[in-house]
Amino acid sequence: MMLVEEKDALKLKLKEVFGYGHFRGNQETIIRNLLDGRNTFVIMPTGAGKSLCYQLPALLLDGLAVVISPLIALMKNQVDQLNAYGVNARFLNSTLSKGEITRLRKDALAGAVKLLYVAPESLTKEENIEFLKKVNVSFVAIDEAHCISEWGHDFRPEYRRIKSMIQQLGDLPIMALTATATPKVQIDIQKNLQMEDADVFISSFNRKNLYYEVRPKKETKKQLIKFLRDNKGKSGIVYCLSRKKVEEIASLISVNGFKAAPYHAGLDPDVREKNQDAFLNEEIDIIVATIAFGMGIDKPDVRFVVHYDVPKSLEGYYQETGRSGRDGLEGHCLMFYSHNDLNKLEKFNKDKSVQERENARILLQEMEFYAESPVCRRRQLLHYFGEEFTEDNCGMCDNCVHPRERFDGTEYVKMVLQAVKQTNERFGLNHLVNVIRGIEDEYVKSYAHFDLEIFGKGGNEDADFWKSVIRQTLIYQYLEKDIENIGALKLSKKGIAFLKKPHAIELARDHDFTTDLEDEEVSSERAPVNAKAYDDKLFEMLKTLRKKIAKERNLPPYVIFQDPSLEEMATTYPTTKEDLAQVNGVGMGKVNKFGKEFLETIQKYVEDNDIETATEVVVKSSVNKSKTKIFIIQQIDKKVDLEEIAEMANLSFEELLTEIENISYSGTKLNLNYYIDQVLDPNKLDDIHDYFMNAETDSLEAALNDDTLADYTEEEIRLARLAFMSEYAH
Ligand code: ADP
Ligand code: ZN
Repeated sequence: MMLVEEKDALKLKLKEVFGYGHFRGNQETIIRNLLDGRNTFVIMPTGAGKSLCYQLPALLLDGLAVVISPLIALMKNQVDQLNAYGVNARFLNSTLSKGEITRLRKDALAGAVKLLYVAPESLTKEENIEFLKKVNVSFVAIDEAHCISEWGHDFRPEYRRIKSMIQQLGDLPIMALTATATPKVQIDIQKNLQMEDADVFISSFNRKNLYYEVRPKKETKKQLIKFLRDNKGKSGIVYCLSRKKVEEIASLISVNGFKAAPYHAGLDPDVREKNQDAFLNEEIDIIVATIAFGMGIDKPDVRFVVHYDVPKSLEGYYQETGRSGRDGLEGHCLMFYSHNDLNKLEKFNKDKSVQERENARILLQEMEFYAESPVCRRRQLLHYFGEEFTEDNCGMCDNCVHPRERFDGTEYVKMVLQAVKQTNERFGLNHLVNVIRGIEDEYVKSYAHFDLEIFGKGGNEDADFWKSVIRQTLIYQYLEKDIENIGALKLSKKGIAFLKKPHAIELARDHDFTTDLEDEEVSSERAPVNAKAYDDKLFEMLKTLRKKIAKERNLPPYVIFQDPSLEEMATTYPTTKEDLAQVNGVGMGKVNKFGKEFLETIQKYVEDNDIETATEVVVKSSVNKSKTKIFIIQQIDKKVDLEEIAEMANLSFEELLTEIENISYSGTKLNLNYYIDQVLDPNKLDDIHDYFMNAETDSLEAALNDDTLADYTEEEIRLARLAFMSEYAH
């Protein structure tokens, strides 16, 4: 029985050092287990509080605890935090100078250090082992222990040597910790550390407040902007696979009016840190990042995580989505999926060894199954990590909220189980599919599986159908993975019982992502309004309104909004200022100046006619173009002469004018007077001004053909028109 004082001692220390009043989850049991000298294996989702499981015992035990951790950057963080608590923690890795190492050794030998964080590669150095042998080590903790396993997603070869290193320090208790381990990886870790006897503590991986959703990667930019607009003001992360994509998407998001910044390993460290801080301090809402971002980041109110590209593994996906909703409130996890992404990822692995390639392929296949499956996402994720989730409807994933059509799968499941049984539970998915469908490939021939009773019984359905049925049979636990024989499927108890006495099972068909071609590039560049797709009635109403306002203000109607803008409004029905500002030819300036009545008219129209709005999202696009535009705007702000700007931007003067016209037309006010006053006689300017004030249209051609302007050059007319527009239209 536990002594009262002892129990209090743990809690007292928790309060005294860390300031916490209670243990979380099973922390206390875990800590006690280690204090009893037992090998301990901790599997706990990110953010649940793993570190405390070794930090607290390190303080309670005599001597120094060695913590092996793969990430040098995080080591310093952890040590800084502990030092702030008044704990003497230090680290030993390749960043230390000779002098620092000497000092560290001296302090450790004097018994002053309680925790020592060590990188695995430092541990393999003979001199460090010799030093540690002389120190009184209390136990060894191995953080991120999944790095040991080549079946995992983050294999680090030096981790496989840890056991032989620490053995030299004597027979010490070991604590292994990880936030991600499939059953296969768990066994691998225990074997490699020779701690099969360890007590294993698995915390539930279910994150009840996270909503999981997978969408086809189709018109992705548009979908993304719409999603961000629906989540305006909330904090979120958008993950992309490459640095280039990160840059591209970060600008896209910024151009569309959100506060966002990029984060990836290719950025200058200062910039990276600045962007990260801006995100943590809520100066920006959205960080667009490669997976380099997020480790060690503890921002509690991240409301969404978007995977713009498909992640490399379900482990990675779970970790990354896990960064949302840490405060227990809503977290929306949206992944854009395309098969093409998987092929791209597979190509990245082409230089790896055969074995590594094969492992990576298996991880990708799990990703594929997850995305395409009709089964509850939560159930699939938890199943992947070896946890059972049996609720019929989690209510917090796309497959549960919008269930796919179901069919009676009883006979199909029966056939799958028979195929597994008749092939002696030694084969994986692809072979089983071939057997069921009656495909005589090399394997079928060499095992003479064409002789089996089940052979060819399911020839009417295609391979994808059978793969899906087998996956569902596995996830509903009629089958289980054979941990010793990777890829092979065995009958579970439930499966054996089913074969004896079948009962009705409903299945659903996979999502079909094959027709979802990745046409995102095309779609976002495409003009948002196709000819005559607009609502005639609304268009006429908007024109009437425009006439009225023009009259009131004594301006030509086109200065208010041009026809294409009205057409677009009659197509997309913007009802908020933000939505209206997205219309081509309309910027926030115009919205504030003329927008109110237009919004009211559209709003009323939408209500009267029960129109579903915001279905069509207009994405302001073209990152490269916008870079030039931004440059031009900046230079004009600095009152640089246009000739000079043209030269710097590598444009002809005419091209520059076109760019400036586009900028002005899309709603940005430019003050060009500094330049125009130099090059254009005030009288000329007035003439052109008068012309435009009375013209029906701002067309250049019409102006050039007008007799009153016969003496003016095209360039003069264009410049004066710009001055006119910026005076009245913005
Ligand atoms: P993990 O390593 O599992 O991702 P951490 O060890 O970094 O998680 O802990 C996550 C957060 O939870 C940290 O801010 C930590 O201070 C806090 N925490 C850990 N244990 C407790 C506890 N018993 N009470 C309150 N907060 C805790
Ligand atoms: Zn669900």
